[in-house]
Amino acid sequence: LASRLQNVFGKLKGKGKVSEEDVSEAMREVRLALLEADVNFKVVKEFIAKVKERAIGQDVMKSFTPGMVIIDIVNKELTELMGGTQSKLAKANKPPTVIMMAGLQGAGKTTTSGKLAKLLQKGNHKPLLVACDIYRPAAIKQLQILGEQIGAPVFSMGDQTNPVEIARAAIQHAKENNNDYVIVDTAGRLHIDEALMEELKQIHATVKPDEVLLVIDAMTGQDAVNVAESFHSQLALSGVVLTKLDGDTRGGAALSVKAVTGCPIKFAAMGEKIDSLEPFHPDRMASRILGMGDMLSLIEKAQSNIDAEKAAEMERKMRNAEFTFDDFLEQMAQVRKMGPIDQLLEMMPGMNKMKGLKDIKVDERQIARVEAIVKSMTKEEKGKPDLLNHSRRKRIAAGSGTTVADVNRLIKQFDDMRKMMKQFSSMMGGPNGPKGGK
Ligand code: GDP
Ligand code: MG
Repeated sequence: LASRLQNVFGKLKGKGKVSEEDVSEAMREVRLALLEADVNFKVVKEFIAKVKERAIGQDVMKSFTPGMVIIDIVNKELTELMGGTQSKLAKANKPPTVIMMAGLQGAGKTTTSGKLAKLLQKGNHKPLLVACDIYRPAAIKQLQILGEQIGAPVFSMGDQTNPVEIARAAIQHAKENNNDYVIVDTAGRLHIDEALMEELKQIHATVKPDEVLLVIDAMTGQDAVNVAESFHSQLALSGVVLTKLDGDTRGGAALSVKAVTGCPIKFAAMGEKIDSLEPFHPDRMASRILGMGDMLSLIEKAQSNIDAEKAAEMERKMRNAEFTFDDFLEQMAQVRKMGPIDQLLEMMPGMNKMKGLKDIKVDERQIARVEAIVKSMTKEEKGKPDLLNHSRRKRIAAGSGTTVADVNRLIKQFDDMRKMMKQFSSMMGGPNGPKGGK
């Protein structure tokens, strides 16, 4: 999903003027990318509609950087789709807080129970793990090993007692032992079935959990959402844990689950290790899906620092080959306002591949030297670097108190800057994009 979307946006960024048709085209591709990533089709439809609505509301076409504005909108809507803000674990008014884990077999309930206990311990809590899966061979042992590993108590009554009874006794045990959290690990089946649901409902009615977390395997995509829907209809889930996000997931589950069930994703597990469980942050996930965490901060920087009118004027000059050394000076000052240039270049896909750019150090002294050299040029020379043969370069060096090597370097940088500006203006959606220029 990430690479697919990055392609779509790569195209948008490379565009000069973005027409409404371009936006519709991009939206069609976003739609396809989402469907391919196994995002629920109803969710996709609503998502696209919302992005379009926002794009119209913000008058994207009139903005200086239409491509970037659209990317920003998509990012914000993705974040919204996954719940907007981070959703915290519920807490009982009176301890213990009871957390019930549910989900299909192999989704990661037992592992996640252990991870969650570890996370709670880090917050100075005393979780009790409860072994209510009496069916899967070695399920109790698995939980006991996890408990030992993190130093958390595990409550079990073997595999001959009814899980409802185990759960009831566990709550009592927690109260007596000052465990402020109880994590009930339950059994799963390969498929949802009546008997399983009935048992879960009985456990639910007995322990009255403050939190019912559905554990779902992110790798199962659309299926995960169907599972979530049917669990939710029977059990009133309060949140979801997405596991195996470390695998090659297409991201569909993360994107659909909140929209379909209304249940927020509270945690994400990204590995088999005990400390690989994290609170789920919708904004971070959106950036990860778009593969552009750094891009977004760059957009913000660029939008706040580039003087739109000046940049447009520069672009006009470039187009008409009127870009001169004087403009070069001006441009250096503009770029400098955005911060260290190497850092900026690193954030721009493709830019770091341009050789020589890293050598442009834009500091005050550099600007002063460039200024001296440029001032020693004739008006004609300023617009036409081709004129600058060796004897002219020598004259300029002498006149500016620099060396021929300095002058040569500047001319080289001037050329590089022209190249960079071309690329930069297309990134910013200016009229000099590959398709926009005439
Ligand atoms: P349960 O049947 O729902 O209790 O599932 P388990 O907790 O036994 O986990 C099933 C398998 O998934 C185990 O091999 C776990 O190590 C593995 N697993 C669980 N969570 C993750 C995860 O976030 N990433 C990866 N790669 N594997 C996981
Ligand atoms: Mg298990």
